[in-house]
Amino acid sequence: MTKPATNLTAEQLAALREQAERETSRFVDPRQLTRVEKFIAGRPAWVRAIIGHGVTVRTMTGVELTLLDLAATAEPNPPTPPREPAPWDPGYQPTDAERAIISRRQAAAAEWVALRNELPVDVTVEHNYTSHRHIDGYVQGVDHILLRDSLRLGRLYRPANEPLCFVPSNAHNLRHFGGPEDRVPTCKQCLGLAYRITGRGPSMALMGR
Ligand SMILES: [Zn+2]
Repeated sequence: MTKPATNLTAEQLAALREQAERETSRFVDPRQLTRVEKFIAGRPAWVRAIIGHGVTVRTMTGVELTLLDLAATAEPNPPTPPREPAPWDPGYQPTDAERAIISRRQAAAAEWVALRNELPVDVTVEHNYTSHRHIDGYVQGVDHILLRDSLRLGRLYRPANEPLCFVPSNAHNLRHFGGPEDRVPTCKQCLGLAYRITGRGPSMALMGR
């Protein structure tokens, strides 16, 4: 059961409303407006509980303004509404957009496990931190597939500890790797070669990212 937004009873609220109708003058007191504006900030549920619907200081009637002022005096510390659960709280319900991101991530991770298992050598995934990539437009911040052993397949040769996309002319762009990480590769060249080597049909789960 949800906590009520106000501890004022229906009878108390009815009495306050009567009082507000009696006491509201045609002229708005700017001090009252400021006072109410300050009090209702961050308390939309309380405002709804007091006057029956949501309003802002700009849309409320004079009676509603007086009623909120009287209610604030009668209940200077309204109950704190329960906080919406944060993503790390148990019972948090992800939004549709978050759910879509999670399932895309899971599909990519599953596809990477399947692709990696079909590769003939052990590999790790590492991030390239080489800094002079801007010189020839090298893509920044991708995760490469690094070979633990050298790989020779027909005319294709790659030395150990180099990314699958390694070619000597591009070596200066592939110097500093951050060490193995539990990540899914994002380098399209590495992935393209991995798919060619395995003969596995390229999946959008990895290539479409
Ligand atoms: Zn690569």
